[in-house]
Amino acid sequence: VARNPGEAEFHQAVEEVLESLAPVFDKHPEYEANGILERIVEPERQIIFRVPWVDDQGQTHVNRGFRIEFNSALGPYKGGLRFHPSVYTGIVKFLGFEQVFKNALTGRPIGGGKGGSDFDPKGKSDQEVMRFCQSFMTELARHIGDKTDVPAGDIGVGGREIGYLFGQYKRIKNRYEAGVLTGKGLDWGGSLVRTEATGYGLVYILEEMLKDHKISLNDKKVIISGSGNVAIYANEKVTQLGAKVIAMSDSSGYLYDENGIDLELIKEIKEVNRGRIKEYLAEYPDAEYCDNCTDIWSIECDIALPCATQNEMDAAGVQTLIDNGVIAIGEGANMPLTPEAVKLVKENDLFYIPGKAANAGGVATSAIEMTQNAMFDEWTFDKVDQELQKIMVNIYKDASAVAAEYGMEGDLVAGANIAGFLKVANAMLDQGVV
Ligand code: NDP
Repeated sequence: VARNPGEAEFHQAVEEVLESLAPVFDKHPEYEANGILERIVEPERQIIFRVPWVDDQGQTHVNRGFRIEFNSALGPYKGGLRFHPSVYTGIVKFLGFEQVFKNALTGRPIGGGKGGSDFDPKGKSDQEVMRFCQSFMTELARHIGDKTDVPAGDIGVGGREIGYLFGQYKRIKNRYEAGVLTGKGLDWGGSLVRTEATGYGLVYILEEMLKDHKISLNDKKVIISGSGNVAIYANEKVTQLGAKVIAMSDSSGYLYDENGIDLELIKEIKEVNRGRIKEYLAEYPDAEYCDNCTDIWSIECDIALPCATQNEMDAAGVQTLIDNGVIAIGEGANMPLTPEAVKLVKENDLFYIPGKAANAGGVATSAIEMTQNAMFDEWTFDKVDQELQKIMVNIYKDASAVAAEYGMEGDLVAGANIAGFLKVANAMLDQGVV
């Protein structure tokens, strides 16, 4: 804490992992002898830079850009870029730290990193977003590359932003280096299923966990926070598998439709028009809208999937869900539960999949995109989707087996943390003190 003052989210993420690791250090004294812990919590490199840009009125603005290259023991740094006004070092470091273990869980040769800016894309014109992305990439281009560091999207960074970023990278480097970014358009090096991957992956691992306990998704009532990339495709898959999504949200409020949310309308509002979820009421006046997004957890459901942002579900939210009979929580977002909320989930033996495991499908599919780029190849939707399913089932099996091995059967938090850590720590041991 003294070494990283004021970085509350980073402290929270590190504490959560370290709590799981005590039995691992007892079993492997060589980790302590080689300073694995001290090294794994210190990013290999942190880059902070000025991003100047000019708005449509000719006014100059300055935002701050970040790229935290956290750990490259398993491969090039890999992780998304987030554009949101709340972005600062503590957020980027927490996301980068989590990414290291998540990427290890996928079994793909990728290290961990994360980046972004405090730029707010909301309310900006396409031209403004383009100028910002070009300025951001003008500096970032010095630090990334298909074998060095491979960014992707996250909150506020979708297909449009990846396009502008890629265009500027190509122009600066005079090189068509498809594998330098993932989440690209399908006509220029992108992979089928990447858009759907995080949401689909979340539902695949949820289905696997429930199947293991002889529970089916059929007819289950689901609430999903957020209405961005992860939330939309979690809705799509869980609906395909027979469940009914009755509530979704955005940062302004939540929507409740007891007949099941019309996902095509949500896509139209959020993906096409970049509007507010409240606009749903124009088509469905009988649906309910509440302008407090965190109250979404007050709706009775069987399964809750937080897919918006960090610390969006607190202990009071979990208690209400428990009182209303929830059986499972799966984290589409990164660190959406506060530490007190996680404690309550564990005390009540809910089925719970932490983000490191549950939302790893996005980066896993990004790694599949990198594979296709390296092979100058394009895989079919079914081939990528099957690979994604295989990876998510393996993550569940790995995390469950490791939890059991360390005497914490059913604890996927411990299982995911330890399984991810072991892969990274062993690679770091092999590579010496660097
Ligand atoms: P998007 O930008 O597509 O969507 C984010 C959604 O969450 C929007 O509905 C947004 O509402 C809402 N939201 C954002 N910030 C807040 C906030 N402070 N309070 C309440 N709601 C908020 O992002 P993604 O769907 O890509 O990401 C969602 C989460 O999933 C993040 O935690 C991200 O790190 C994680 N994740 C994403 C992956 C991916 O592949 N995209 C991979 C793995 C994890 P509004 O529209 O009002 O802004």
